[in-house]
Amino acid sequence: MLHFSKQTIYTEHMSIIRDIAGIAKGMSVTFREMFAPTVVENYPDGPGPMKGAVFQERFRGLHVLQRDENGLEKCVACFLCAAACPSNCIYIEAAENTEENRISGAERYAEVYNIDYNRCIFCGYCVEACPTDAITHGHGFELATFNASNLVYRKEQLLAPIKPMRTEAPVESTSQLKEPAQDHP
Ligand code: SF4
Ligand code: SF4
Repeated sequence: MLHFSKQTIYTEHMSIIRDIAGIAKGMSVTFREMFAPTVVENYPDGPGPMKGAVFQERFRGLHVLQRDENGLEKCVACFLCAAACPSNCIYIEAAENTEENRISGAERYAEVYNIDYNRCIFCGYCVEACPTDAITHGHGFELATFNASNLVYRKEQLLAPIKPMRTEAPVESTSQLKEPAQDHP
């Protein structure tokens, strides 16, 4: 016949109570999180061009080569960005603007402007070095590819699109203003 001392029974009871308390504590966390608002982003099934991804303004993504208000390229091929780049991943070939072929507002423009994203560390030094604010960081981030040569982005891929010129909406004369709709019986 087995004999258990009072001390053994007490220890076993305490152990069971501790286990139940542990499970209850864990389940309380589970239930709390089940009813908390969702904070994850619904990428890539979310709305908009970023497919649900949300970025802080300071996020450094793919570069954008900017244009001025006349649609001309802001880059003047000064090479300062390439000199500042610690990864040596910017390649530029400069060319002269002519009256027949004006690409930038200055004497020169970048005929070739490549960034090798195999090497870029998104440090932003090129952006800081640029005297004309020609290069900025955008929010593009979908760079993954099976072919490393696809990661060498050319100027045509980096250039900001030309904005359509703003046209003033013609002012309607008072005679053209529509009469308020009349209710017909
Ligand atoms: S972000 Fe940094 S590493 Fe990338 S191109 Fe600019 S300077 Fe080079
Ligand atoms: S992007 Fe800016 S720093 Fe780089 S070559 Fe053009 S003007 Fe110079």
